[in-house]
Amino acid sequence: MATAASAPALATTSKISLREDLTCAICCDLFREPVMLACMHHFCKPCISRYWRGFQGPVSCPQCRKEFSTKEFQTNYLVAAMVEKVRVTTSDSYLKNLEKQLRDTLESHRLRKEDFMNSVRRDKDKMDAIKRAGADLQARVKGEFQALHQILQNEETCMLEQLRREQEEELEKVQRHLEAVKLAVRELEDNMRALKQASANTESVVLTELPQLRQCVQVDTAPEFDINTFSNKYMAPLQYITWRKMFKSLKPGPSPLTFDVDTAHVSIYVSRDKTAAAECDVVVPHTDHSKRFLQCVNILAAQGFQSGQHYWEVEVTSKPKWDLGVASESVDRRARIKLSPESGYWTLRMRNGSECSAGTQPWTRLQLSSSLQRVGVFLDCEERRVSFYNADDMSLIYSFTNGPRGKVFPFFSPCINDGRQKPQPIKLLHYPPVALLG
Ligand SMILES: [Zn+2]
Ligand SMILES: [Zn+2]
Repeated sequence: MATAASAPALATTSKISLREDLTCAICCDLFREPVMLACMHHFCKPCISRYWRGFQGPVSCPQCRKEFSTKEFQTNYLVAAMVEKVRVTTSDSYLKNLEKQLRDTLESHRLRKEDFMNSVRRDKDKMDAIKRAGADLQARVKGEFQALHQILQNEETCMLEQLRREQEEELEKVQRHLEAVKLAVRELEDNMRALKQASANTESVVLTELPQLRQCVQVDTAPEFDINTFSNKYMAPLQYITWRKMFKSLKPGPSPLTFDVDTAHVSIYVSRDKTAAAECDVVVPHTDHSKRFLQCVNILAAQGFQSGQHYWEVEVTSKPKWDLGVASESVDRRARIKLSPESGYWTLRMRNGSECSAGTQPWTRLQLSSSLQRVGVFLDCEERRVSFYNADDMSLIYSFTNGPRGKVFPFFSPCINDGRQKPQPIKLLHYPPVALLG
């Protein structure tokens, strides 16, 4: 602070002493048209002229009294320039202007600082938002894995419980047999004792009849224990069996969709099991239905969704041209409409076998890391999210975050074939036998 305060003070001091140096000793003001005498003293030209006006013959310097024979002086342009500079820099308007510049510069600095402070605040807010989003997602991921762990835990508990029960049953069967045999042995021993006693008595007593014997209990044949039968259920591909069971418990698991024939454009042929749809060049026999697409070669699934999370998989194999996604129940089926969220469609589209785009207006071109054989569609009604995955490696292709409100149906368009190739169908996959993890 000390150096900052003393610097302007120093400048002011040097400016004052310079002003004194450039002051005329006669009028005590800054030189006007400064001239220099032979003694090197300076005066204003009007002042020295006026001072010498009454003198005839030799004159003297008003400052040092040195005498000169003639009234001679020289104009000093250098001093004149310095005087002009000092006059300007000490003028009111100059100072006012300087002060204004100072205030303006200060204000612009203040505004810039404010901008930076706002930027700092925004960055901090962003960091907070990232942290919050990260924490939310962490909780979500943990929840999903928790659910998977729970399924596995339940399966394990269930299987171990079953094994314990079966082991118990086997043991009980043998235990029951063992006890029956033991009882039979005891009865036989009793009878043997009675018989032995009777036999020992025959020497003294005439044996008239057999001693009273206990009725021997019937013992069933020993229960079979077949180690192979017992272990068959457990000496199995347990991981795969459990995985298949898990697959059915997944939330959302792949929805087993079917095509709704009543929605199909008249040139879409649907397979008997309603899982394959292909475009054909004849009119398919049909009945009039208000649900039917009249202009575009479109078809919907029979299953509509308006809450929860849903996932389904569609096989497109090497079909060069298709659209698929979801459509609002309310879409106009009589009109030819450009597919976009604004018109009620959230779609992925393929053209020329490799040109993949998201169905926005205009289209958003997407780069695929590998060829797209099967597409996974994920619909989260609450989060209003529609995402597309490459179902072979579950890599994300595109995600709409401005998803639908209200009821939607899975949407498909096999598109019009260019005639050079045999039309290929779009297929709905039911629990596809592909490994989802790695
Ligand atoms: Zn003067
Ligand atoms: Zn002088």
